[in-house]
Amino acid sequence: MLIDTHTHLFEDAFDEDIAEVIARAVEAGVSKLLLPNLEVASIPRLNALCDRFPDVCFPMMGIHPTTITADFRRDLEHIRAALEQRKYIAIGEVGIDLYWDKSRLKEQTEAFETQLRWSVELDLPVSIHTREAIPQVLESLHKVGIDRLRGVLHCFTGSRNELEEALRCKNFLIGIDGPVTYKKADFVDYLTLAPLDRLVLETDAPYLSPVPMRGKRNEPAYMVYTAQKLAEIYGCSLDEVMRTTTKNAETLFLL
Ligand SMILES: [Zn+2]
Repeated sequence: MLIDTHTHLFEDAFDEDIAEVIARAVEAGVSKLLLPNLEVASIPRLNALCDRFPDVCFPMMGIHPTTITADFRRDLEHIRAALEQRKYIAIGEVGIDLYWDKSRLKEQTEAFETQLRWSVELDLPVSIHTREAIPQVLESLHKVGIDRLRGVLHCFTGSRNELEEALRCKNFLIGIDGPVTYKKADFVDYLTLAPLDRLVLETDAPYLSPVPMRGKRNEPAYMVYTAQKLAEIYGCSLDEVMRTTTKNAETLFLL
């Protein structure tokens, strides 16, 4: 059994065939799917999908750094209110992204740290998005309280130093997605510095399809290719990758 710990199945890309996508995931052994929220506007779609497939889809709540606008404080109030209205398994996805927009670092940081404090208050793990901003994200984690937080650094593709720093955050796991199967993935050279019991698998569907599906719409069933690549990198059996990463996800997200 595998758990896709980060997948955006409520996006338009799945409007036509979501039931088939979920059936293929379950068929491939990917029987639990964790869905991070993106913005206030996506909350109804996220909740509706999780209500439709309650044994498979589990929602997270948060606001994504690339959706932070001048009105982010008002958006945060909506997110906080949503957290009171049903059970969410995590805060996500939250973080800092300096690839798309460097001009809102201040706002992104405030929104990120506010949501990190909620995760402490509500005792929920966090799914963290970071792009060209690992030092800033680590700074916020330490500021809010690294020992009180737990979560995943989602879609890790950072440098050796950044991996080592991330591993020092004892309550945090490293999320591995399709890019681990790409030829130019430098981080594969030092990934094994992270023991298998610090990794979880993700798809980030509909994005980042693993080889041999690269270029197509990604979906949870394809996560098996990512697991196979990890078995190759770690020199262990596919079964060991599946057992260990599933156990890691179950422990972190209390599944
Ligand atoms: Zn995501």
